[in-house]
Amino acid sequence: METTKGDDLLADGNAIAVFTSGGDAPGMNAVVRGVCRTALHYGRPVYAIYEGYQGLVDGGEFIRPFTWEETQMIIHQGGTVIGSARCLDFRQREGRLRACKNLILCNITNLVCCGGDGSLTGANIFKLEWESLVAELLEKSEITREQAEKCAGLNLVGCVGSIDNDMVYDGTLTIGTDTALHRIVDAIDAVTSTASSHQRTFVLEIMGRHCGYLAWAAGVATGADFILIPESPPKVSDWESLLCAKLDQRRKRGARLCTVLVAEGAIDINGNPITTEYVRQVIVDRLKHDTRATILGHVQRGGHASCYDRLLGTVTGAMAVEKVLRADPGDRATIVGVKGSLPTVNDLVQTVADTQAVAKFSEQGDFLGAIKARKKDFQRNYEIHKAINRDIPKVAEAAKEYNVAVLCSGAPAAGMNACIRAVSKYVQNFGHRCFAVHGGFAGLAAGELHKMDWMEASSWSDQGGCNIRTDRRHPTDIPNTLETIKKHNLNALCVIGGFDALRAVYAIREAVHIPVAYIPATISNNVPGTDFSLGCDTALNAICAAIDTCKRSADSSSSRVFIIETQGRNSGFLAVLSALSGGADIVYTKEEGVSLQRMCDDIALIKNLIQTHQKRHFVVVRNEMCNDRYDLNFMENLFAEEGSGVFTVRTVKLGHLCQGDIPSPLDRVRAALFGGVACRFLIDAIESKSSSKVVVGLHDSRVQVVPVDQVAPDADWTNRVPLKQKDKWGWILALFKHLAGYGRLHERIEDGFKKLMDQVTVCKTCDD
Ligand code: ADP
Repeated sequence: METTKGDDLLADGNAIAVFTSGGDAPGMNAVVRGVCRTALHYGRPVYAIYEGYQGLVDGGEFIRPFTWEETQMIIHQGGTVIGSARCLDFRQREGRLRACKNLILCNITNLVCCGGDGSLTGANIFKLEWESLVAELLEKSEITREQAEKCAGLNLVGCVGSIDNDMVYDGTLTIGTDTALHRIVDAIDAVTSTASSHQRTFVLEIMGRHCGYLAWAAGVATGADFILIPESPPKVSDWESLLCAKLDQRRKRGARLCTVLVAEGAIDINGNPITTEYVRQVIVDRLKHDTRATILGHVQRGGHASCYDRLLGTVTGAMAVEKVLRADPGDRATIVGVKGSLPTVNDLVQTVADTQAVAKFSEQGDFLGAIKARKKDFQRNYEIHKAINRDIPKVAEAAKEYNVAVLCSGAPAAGMNACIRAVSKYVQNFGHRCFAVHGGFAGLAAGELHKMDWMEASSWSDQGGCNIRTDRRHPTDIPNTLETIKKHNLNALCVIGGFDALRAVYAIREAVHIPVAYIPATISNNVPGTDFSLGCDTALNAICAAIDTCKRSADSSSSRVFIIETQGRNSGFLAVLSALSGGADIVYTKEEGVSLQRMCDDIALIKNLIQTHQKRHFVVVRNEMCNDRYDLNFMENLFAEEGSGVFTVRTVKLGHLCQGDIPSPLDRVRAALFGGVACRFLIDAIESKSSSKVVVGLHDSRVQVVPVDQVAPDADWTNRVPLKQKDKWGWILALFKHLAGYGRLHERIEDGFKKLMDQVTVCKTCDD
């Protein structure tokens, strides 16, 4: 988008206000924080409107300036600290007239609305009416001509706060969805451990009246046996028999537990609602299973925001300010989001229309239309889930029974087991055999592998680590590797691992004559060919939780500095993203480097703020390799010595705790999709007699297959990072700095984030 206003104009203008509306969603506080801090960074007055549209209509004390200090210690909190309410008054012009006057009284003409499609629709109506509302207020002498002229137009930007992920827009998720998935997946994990002890069947009701995303993603993450969602009802009217046949098969194959997920809005092919209780009764009546129903309800909305939601809220809040300040009143309202690793801007009216189209297709019984309208790869991902969780495997012709091996290479990463499960199930469900190689490439050369049983990996989705053992050794023993391939008649290989696993696949690309699919799995997210690797989301959540703990401890004592060291080797990804989502104050990365001068400046800054009572504690996040000589010990001593008498220092070296344990929902979903897409590619490659070597990665939130030869030139083989690593995440570092207050304190803001925002164009529709 063209920049219409220069930075010098940004500081001199009307105020900005932010409000949260509709159903609350974890991550909304990150939006409020991101909006306020960015506005203050530009020297603009910023207000919070309390209690959503009701506060806007009632005005007075409901519209209050929001200070930098008030944004501290809120990023992790669920819900919204400025409140949300449904408001009938705002649906009437009379209510919107009062709202308009209240904003003009505070000189606010830049509005950031965080809510669902209802709230955003209301906001757009308000924007379109604004001129006529101002004219009416002037005519009634409720405002002066000067006020009317100063507030002639309204700039509006929306951030989508909705746990349902029901917005059809160019963004991977909506704010709150990932946290809700954390709650749901935790609950399913808890329920399944008790269910398997007693051979029970559990029917769980998941939120989602019009959108089955939560039920679908929770089902993928936990390997649920049956999922009922509004967009894709079972294709037959007698779905009860289908369900019972599937559960019966599962039991006969030795499954000790069965789980059925029912989205709130689940319907049958004729549009009749399917209730949780009805599903339970059907299973009890027909199968006599000991069956329990659990309605998860508002538990799904609650609790601390996940790392992803904090990032999404923060980035969209900051983007919203960039957009409202650079907009002209005639511009159409927009919605900001994040797709993959980059920000996006969407036309608000188009987005709401696209979203409402899904519900209309479903109401008319056009379910294929609904799924297509949902976009975001919904259909393909849904098919992959069904292929992994099929109850009765297809039988392949004898000549077409292929042998696919799976191995893990490098350090363990959460999601490896879920990915092996997906590979094993997918391969076997299409009538082929899956072999698990023990101990990476060394195990392959040594012929250490076994044929996986269909049930073997069934319950691996929620298990951290790597059950088939991962190994760091490079594939040096090619003759024995080829011997194993020959002996077991392996037709394809799936390699799950980090940077060195990619190096290995690249190295063997000519020597090994079977197709190989490489799936990136490393907490450092330092592999080219994907926006995100398996394990990095679990790691970010683990580090974020550690930062929360340290912040809480520091906040309870006086004048304390915590220095937290993360893993990540030469990649600052973990340090920067966890610092941003944890609300840390300073981050040191390898990419940027750290000098003695910089640390001394930071210490001087910390001392100043503590001595002037502006801040009581600081959290510094350092990447383990940010400087070879200035290690954690050195930093601790430097900070302690130079801060002596003003603050005390504590250090935390997270080391292997960064790996986390139980994989996060995002990692599990990515594991299933990566595994499914890899297997589909491998089976096709075997059939077409291709021996391609490919990387299965995420690009703009789509799982894509890219030849390893195309990915290799983007690898910095010496430093083990993508060559474009800095371009990819540098904008987050720049954003971190202005949100951490560097601008007002240090004059050391980089303009990477602003530059990026200037390049983002408005998407009229999202691509499929
Ligand atoms: P969500 O934003 O989560 O979809 P709702 O649909 O309940 O939640 O909308 C929240 C609030 O937004 C409503 O209580 C109302 O004040 C306002 N709103 C919704 N739709 C409209 C509309 N068409 N016109 C004016 N205001 C609206």
